[in-house]
Amino acid sequence: MHYLLFTFALLLSGATLANEHRSHEHDSLDAHVHGEAQLDVALEGKLLELQLHSPAMNLAGFERAPANAREQARLNAVRDFLTQPEKVFMLAPEAGCALEREAVSSELFGVAAGDEDHLALHDEASEAEPADDHHDIHAYYQFTCAKPQALRSIDLRNLFRQYPGLHELDVQLIGPRGQKGQTLNARNPILQF
Ligand SMILES: [Zn+2]
Repeated sequence: MHYLLFTFALLLSGATLANEHRSHEHDSLDAHVHGEAQLDVALEGKLLELQLHSPAMNLAGFERAPANAREQARLNAVRDFLTQPEKVFMLAPEAGCALEREAVSSELFGVAAGDEDHLALHDEASEAEPADDHHDIHAYYQFTCAKPQALRSIDLRNLFRQYPGLHELDVQLIGPRGQKGQTLNARNPILQF
């Protein structure tokens, strides 16, 4: 189970973040492809973990440092939405899932409008290659569910509704019945356990 937690710990290290947006290959779970995002879900016993990775483009409509107050507000709105997992995931109430931990992160958060030098510095410090303008947004959630057997699906329609730039969500699920992959989109937003 500690797979997701482990991944998350790696993500928190700046080096890994830098590596991640440097590689634009499609060969990993974290490939940065505009329009696509990844969701890892693990349910073991009462512990439910969800981890979302998306190019910032899909959610904010841009992914360089915010150029003005309007773009800064847009980024803030993305962060606000993602810090409300009850809206993002709409877990079945009968499962009794309570949020224990959450973390929403991106190099773009906390970079003030016009502070592109800061972002460039970030990139130059962490990698030798020239800074690129591709940035990701990560969100991690941990729930304890009183009745995990009542968790038969997760409805992600709000996520697709909120972000039309998100066309495809590649889900990797580790659940009571093993591991499986699913591809969700606006027409098919329900993740089945
Ligand atoms: Zn990009």
